Amino acid sequence: MNTKTITCIECPVGCRIGVDMEGCRVVKVSGNKCPKGEKYAISEIENPMRVLTTTVAAEGLGIRRLPIRTSAPISKANIPEVMRVIRSVKVSRPVRVGESIVKNVCGTGADIVVTRSVD
Ligand code: SF4
Repeated sequence: MNTKTITCIECPVGCRIGVDMEGCRVVKVSGNKCPKGEKYAISEIENPMRVLTTTVAAEGLGIRRLPIRTSAPISKANIPEVMRVIRSVKVSRPVRVGESIVKNVCGTGADIVVTRSVD
């Protein structure tokens, strides 16, 4: 059995959480002050999720790169595939903050949304 210590980022308390694992599976969580910590620890070890923030190519808009992010956290395992999609996208029309430019990217349930308006 392996033991790892992580910091819960679900709230400002920042509990240090001990996680006992067998292989990639969590078998025991300790040190969390509330149930959100256990849920966070299991997700962080077994299927870590992240909001992906990056840029996409822009053309004819006065900027070369347009900032974007996923509309929700996606599995870290999906990030390489999502980045391949992002590298294939070029925005060449005016867009508004929060506008979706790719729906349900790679079946993750998250959209790619722009984080800057350009005319
Ligand atoms: S375990 Fe609960 S109290 Fe501790 S940091 Fe996470 S959310 Fe906050």
